[in-house]
Amino acid sequence: MAGDQGSAQPAAGMQVSWIAYAAILIVGFLSLFSLYMGFINYGDNTDIAIIFIFLGAAGFAAIGYMLFRGKPVATAKDDTLTIKKVEVYTTLECPKCQQKRVRDFKRGDYVFKDDEPCTRCDGLMVITKIARKKEEEDKKKKEESSWL
Ligand SMILES: [Zn+2]
Repeated sequence: MAGDQGSAQPAAGMQVSWIAYAAILIVGFLSLFSLYMGFINYGDNTDIAIIFIFLGAAGFAAIGYMLFRGKPVATAKDDTLTIKKVEVYTTLECPKCQQKRVRDFKRGDYVFKDDEPCTRCDGLMVITKIARKKEEEDKKKKEESSWL
């Protein structure tokens, strides 16, 4: 009967976060209990009370450390981290002579903005398109298909 179990393993990330939450709950409960014992004993047994309060404070410090460390790990698999390396270009067009120019995106660029003087005539070039670089999209598609 024992051989019926499959060899598929659950996602490691799920297990780690579950254990972390359980550990935080247990440490939090123990810390609260230690602080409580410390305050109860403070009157007649100051030495023991100080040890309990110290344990409680250390427990809360450990929880703070776990939460501080755990947050980036929990969001590491989100899509937000893959967005940062996208390159954007701006396409400019001259309405007078139809000359086209492509340059890197600059802060403040928006479509239909009169941007810079035309190099061929005396007109002003207008931004007609702001888009991501194509190679970036192609690379992404290739990556996605190789994962499937
Ligand atoms: Zn022009």
